[in-house]
Amino acid sequence: MATCFWLRSCGARRLGSTFPGCRLHPRAGGLVPAPGPAPGPAQLRGYVGGLEGLSAALLRTDSFVGGRWLPAAATFPVQDPASGAALGMVADCGMSEARAAVRAAYEAFCSWREVSAKERSSLLRKWYNLMIQNKDDLARIITAESGKPLKEAHGEILYSAFFLEWFSEEARRVYGDIIYTPAKDKRALVLKQPVGVAAVITPWNFPSAMITRKVGAALAAGCTVVVKPAEDTPFSALALAELASQAGIPPGVYNVIPCSRKNAKEVGEAICTDPLVSKISFTGSTTTGKILLHHAANSVKRVSMELGGLAPFIVFDSANVDQAVAGALASKFRNTGQTCVCSNRFLVQRGIHDAFVKAFAEAMKKNLHVGNGFEEGTTQGPLINEKAVEKVEKQVNDAVSKGATIVTGGKRHHLGKNFFEPTLLSNVTQDMLCTHEETFGPLAPVIKFDTEEEAIAIANATDVGLAGYFYSQDPAQIWRVAEQLEVGMVGVNEGLISSVECPFGGVKQSGLGREGSKYGIDEYLELKYVCYGGL
Ligand code: NAP
Repeated sequence: MATCFWLRSCGARRLGSTFPGCRLHPRAGGLVPAPGPAPGPAQLRGYVGGLEGLSAALLRTDSFVGGRWLPAAATFPVQDPASGAALGMVADCGMSEARAAVRAAYEAFCSWREVSAKERSSLLRKWYNLMIQNKDDLARIITAESGKPLKEAHGEILYSAFFLEWFSEEARRVYGDIIYTPAKDKRALVLKQPVGVAAVITPWNFPSAMITRKVGAALAAGCTVVVKPAEDTPFSALALAELASQAGIPPGVYNVIPCSRKNAKEVGEAICTDPLVSKISFTGSTTTGKILLHHAANSVKRVSMELGGLAPFIVFDSANVDQAVAGALASKFRNTGQTCVCSNRFLVQRGIHDAFVKAFAEAMKKNLHVGNGFEEGTTQGPLINEKAVEKVEKQVNDAVSKGATIVTGGKRHHLGKNFFEPTLLSNVTQDMLCTHEETFGPLAPVIKFDTEEEAIAIANATDVGLAGYFYSQDPAQIWRVAEQLEVGMVGVNEGLISSVECPFGGVKQSGLGREGSKYGIDEYLELKYVCYGGL
């Protein structure tokens, strides 16, 4: 085991030399190092149709710590949100497993940081290649656990793999600086060094991509990670662990500790307050993000926060209606409205309002097909759970009670308790819940406005600012509005904006930091200034 000078220099407690995966102390009847085999037939019995015939090696139910598959004392069930069928029982990690995972990540960090950038790059590339080789199976896992239509799940797997590809390339492009100071006998150097162990907490709506967007950057920089996936979608995180292992990513570099919602608070606290962890990277709700920021404050850790949004989608009189409708469909109804960059509020100028609403309603009826994500032609799967359906229902009822008009949809879908009809509301006003609370479901509320100033004021009248979209053919207006929207990302005449090459992140309470792009790796690097004197 390489000596970790970083550990000594920051005065953290020293670790034993044994590999941490072998030092886990089991809870009664629980944690035993269990290298390797894929879950046996008994564990797979619960998987529903969509996963039949899928490679058993990818269907993991144990935690993955220090390169080993480890059961926990308890398990929790994961369900298919479309049918409610049990998909499997997954290791329910607690505080002790979380601490063990941090130790494993820390010891691995001490050697991973010394691995050359070229070698890290090559391992990330192998991991990417394996994702591409297994893309069909990985997509089916996403659809099974999140309900996302299979076509979108395929899209997510490519998006997810591209982060590993991108950061395998970025790993070799970390440069420092040489600065000439006024003193003739000195030179100043700026080194970029990996931050350390990162605690990575991710949501269910992109069970794979939200992990690789962070982990690709972290590993490229020389950091190691402990990933806590969402309770609803642990299988994608565990499948990624299997592929990381096959790719030759060393033990302890990528660790996954699934846990139930009941344990999320204590596991989150354990990994976010551990002195061996230097960085917290979170994607999820603003509410949870604030809790984690408290953890970070107490131990002064670096943070990246990708939090909630309330995206405005503005259609100005000069817009091309067909383009705007296509963008509205894409930005509102991807993943059944469950993305952080989904349009939440449609602001449509008076002159184009009626034409837009009519065309949007027709396009929704023609293009949106509610169903099980595995069924051919489904574009709208279930919501993640019934609580999510209740939230949409509450927003619709609130809006209607205050004078909104249902243009199409408006109620639960007959397919099951987690399904809701794609819904369009007009005559929406700003006192309605749906205009100031993130919907995270298939509801498009339309507010009519008169002037550009009014639209900007409504769009910015919120304490979050992730994405914003607008449609206009007026170049001067395009510049003005793009600059004035208080968001981290703007789509101009475009409803789909995410790309691994571009910086993803928000302003205000939508987050801190940027992911993806050439900037993403900086989140996992420290600058060190070296003053070189006596020249
Ligand atoms: P969430 O409730 O905040 O959960 C996200 C993750 O945090 C899950 O793994 C969850 O575990 C965990 N968690 C919950 N409470 C915790 C605590 N006290 N300590 C530590 N971890 C805790 O968010 P969500 O409902 O799953 O996801 C939807 C939200 O994510 C939306 O607001 C959306 O806008 C946002 N989002 C943002 C981005 C972005 O890039 N900005 C991307 C996607 C989603 P459990 O699953 O066990 O509860």
